[in-house]
Amino acid sequence: MSREELERQYESLTERYSAFKSRGLSLDMSRGKPGPEQLDLSEGMLSVIATSADCIDNTGMDTRNYGALDGLPEAKRFFAEVFGVREDQIILGGNSSLTMMYDIIAKAFTHGICEGGEPWCKTSTVKFLCPAPGYDRHFAITEHFGVELIAIRMKEDGPDMDAVERLVASDPAIKGIWCVPKYSNPEGKSYSDEVVRRFANLKPAAKDFRIMWDNAYAIHHLYEDRHDDILNILDECEKAGNPDLALMFASTSKVTFPGGGVALLAASPANIAYIKKLMFFQTIGPDKINQLRHVRFFGDAEGVRRHMQKQAAIIRPKFEVVFELLDRELGGSGVADYVTPNGGYFVSVNVYRGCAKRTVALAAEAGVKMTGAGATFPYGIDPLDQNIRIAPTYPSVEELRTAMELFCVCAKIAACEKLLEQ
Ligand code: PLP
Repeated sequence: MSREELERQYESLTERYSAFKSRGLSLDMSRGKPGPEQLDLSEGMLSVIATSADCIDNTGMDTRNYGALDGLPEAKRFFAEVFGVREDQIILGGNSSLTMMYDIIAKAFTHGICEGGEPWCKTSTVKFLCPAPGYDRHFAITEHFGVELIAIRMKEDGPDMDAVERLVASDPAIKGIWCVPKYSNPEGKSYSDEVVRRFANLKPAAKDFRIMWDNAYAIHHLYEDRHDDILNILDECEKAGNPDLALMFASTSKVTFPGGGVALLAASPANIAYIKKLMFFQTIGPDKINQLRHVRFFGDAEGVRRHMQKQAAIIRPKFEVVFELLDRELGGSGVADYVTPNGGYFVSVNVYRGCAKRTVALAAEAGVKMTGAGATFPYGIDPLDQNIRIAPTYPSVEELRTAMELFCVCAKIAACEKLLEQ
């Protein structure tokens, strides 16, 4: 566009923006929370265990009492099937996988991450690789422990593995990497088989290096006929002769209730034995009643699959509104790019360089809350100030339509301002 065209465009966009502002909107697209109708899908869970007799699992264990440090036997079998791992590879926890991840990092600092491993608190510098854009709360856990965060570029099929291999092989202070291998947060990308195999075959200089493999969206497909499939990291690590390299996490937060789901950690038997040894001092056992509630509600892995189809039917129209508005308002404009994922909980938009903060601020001023610009990068610093995460699941379709239209107007205003400034 010529300068005059840009100025005209800017003027008409600010008019549209003012009209939005005068509506006094109050919408939230900031966090990946299930909407109320998604939570209602699991209402049956609230009554599936109603009597004392219901509390006994199929091995005879009374879930009301103490015990089963690593989870209810019947539930371990069930979750192993759902997440494609073996029962002897599983620890079932409470409602949050993030708590389990935090706990692993805390244990690594106080006691070491493996048998014979030195506690990380005794090492002057601990570093972690952070594929970015990534999940802000992962980065926050390690930052909280004083870990030095190193951003790794995300490519189309996963993190830049050349950089990962080079760094982990050369620096023993690098103790781990955060990964969301399937329908990643925020880009919705899935790691290719080659990337997973390269992870399994890493040769880290630190012998207590761990891949934090957060498979949070393992079963969160948006479409019935379009699923991303990734290789099982634990199997690949075993094949590569590195059985202890990866720790996998998942939960039912976005399957049933984020406030009352079941989280799990899956890892090699050696890792599981070590973690259980430390857990002995921490707890006598998890909430087994809730674990059994999940098994009874779903019945089997097929029951989970059907349930996830219902989840997808609710959120798919919301994602589609996001894609529709992005295409209509920003498509071909040259001021934004985005990927359309097959699953997960987010859509990631790269606005015009240097415009993410301004876009988010403009949206906030007009009553639409977005995830903070920069949040998807370590230390909250997006070097190009361009990535914005959209979380479409919580608002209604109508709210989303309004919020997305406003978002696109804000992205274009910010780009116009930047171009006119230049
Ligand atoms: N991991 C990822 C990648 C997430 O996006 C989220 C929530 O948004 C979580 C973990 C949180 O999981 P949980 O509720 O099990 O703690």
